[in-house]
Amino acid sequence: MRRTPLLSIFLLIAAAVPSWASAGGFVYPFDKIAATSCKWNSWSTLGDDCKIDLPKITGAEYSKFEKNQLYRRVYSVLYGATYDYGWDTGYGSHGGVDIATSDGTPVRSIGDGTVAYASWATGWGNVVAVKHTLTDGAVIYSNYAHLSKISVKKGQAVLAADNVGEVGNTGNSYGNHLHFQIDVTDQAHPYYYSTCAKGMDPMSVVNKGLCRDWLSRNTIDPIAFLESGKVAIPGVADSTVIEAVRNKPTERPDRTSMKTRAEIQEEEIQEFLKKNSISIGLSENGTNVMAGGTVWASVTSGDSRGKATRGNFPELGLDIVFDTKGLSVFPQKIVALDGGRRDFKITGIKPGVYEIAFKMGQTVIARRTVVVLSATDAKTTATAEIRAPGTLFLGEDKNLLVVMKTKYGTPLLDSKFDGRYKLSLLKGKAKFCNVSFGSKTACRSENLVEELEFSYADTYR
Ligand SMILES: [Zn+2]
Repeated sequence: MRRTPLLSIFLLIAAAVPSWASAGGFVYPFDKIAATSCKWNSWSTLGDDCKIDLPKITGAEYSKFEKNQLYRRVYSVLYGATYDYGWDTGYGSHGGVDIATSDGTPVRSIGDGTVAYASWATGWGNVVAVKHTLTDGAVIYSNYAHLSKISVKKGQAVLAADNVGEVGNTGNSYGNHLHFQIDVTDQAHPYYYSTCAKGMDPMSVVNKGLCRDWLSRNTIDPIAFLESGKVAIPGVADSTVIEAVRNKPTERPDRTSMKTRAEIQEEEIQEFLKKNSISIGLSENGTNVMAGGTVWASVTSGDSRGKATRGNFPELGLDIVFDTKGLSVFPQKIVALDGGRRDFKITGIKPGVYEIAFKMGQTVIARRTVVVLSATDAKTTATAEIRAPGTLFLGEDKNLLVVMKTKYGTPLLDSKFDGRYKLSLLKGKAKFCNVSFGSKTACRSENLVEELEFSYADTYR
């Protein structure tokens, strides 16, 4: 009860400070973010209906929001959580909070300060770090990682809410998001994996919760800091705030009742696929590629109104899964589309028939067959298929489309045997008589092509 009057005064002050009056106080790194249904598209293409106020985890009470779909999608990985769950604080050693929003979303400095770093860093991609001096001289650094664009220079003075860059997907990042971290020491960046877990895979360091002592020594929970109730008020933030945040007991939620990140991503993928179609620029009947040769193909995507998908696929992207003994594909993961389209290349390694699956999360969007041909395979017609309108009569001499096929059953598209044919049989093995050369009408022995197994597929089928 003793604290009630103080709290009231505090709330009064907080209410009396307009949101733009930030001198000396701290703000969130975002004002607006993309609504989750719009976050695949670039910020510059979003209408006002696609922009929402950044949801706040009031009081940094994560358990209150842990089942909330919007929060789980926006705050994809919390401080001290793992990548497997994202909200299992106390189990992992994620050094900041990941906030998912569109490519190009403006990122702002959380407080007045000086730009301490504005460049590329391994793992973090494009990073801006801002040094803030609190009222008692304590220093903190706010870090903004995976940016697509950096808008400030080292040494530059910034005010709270000044733009420092734009959200991106640079460095070790799958999907556009801001990695927002607060350091309370000036330990070396990038990543502590180069110190306490040297040489280890960064993902497994976080997922195993290694280096948590490093985490509590060098960083604080950025949400707990911004939600401390003091930092938004000019002239209040000092080292006692840092200590309070540091000593805040860590929640260790029950993971058995918690959705994993993969489950949340799967929901997002299904929503994305409901609104967007994806097509693969590869023949349904099989595509030939020479061993050692390369063919180009494409992925295109648009919404139901035919508007091209611009920006990112859901967080994990589109995976191209194939047999690496027979093929090589680049890229193997398509994360973003430029104007609704992304080209990829397929190189043949070993002759044979291979399936390529296009997967988004657990969902297979398409399967295609690719045939790798040896030089001999590519020259040898093994079978043929006749495509002709109407009825064919024995011995009839007619313009037909004859599709010559490799021994794998895929069309030999550049076959020399196209044109006018005369057939001696309608099914089985037959000699094809190509009478197209030189506009001949009679079938002479020199026009006989090799004996082939063929089938007849009329086009009205
Ligand atoms: Zn992160």
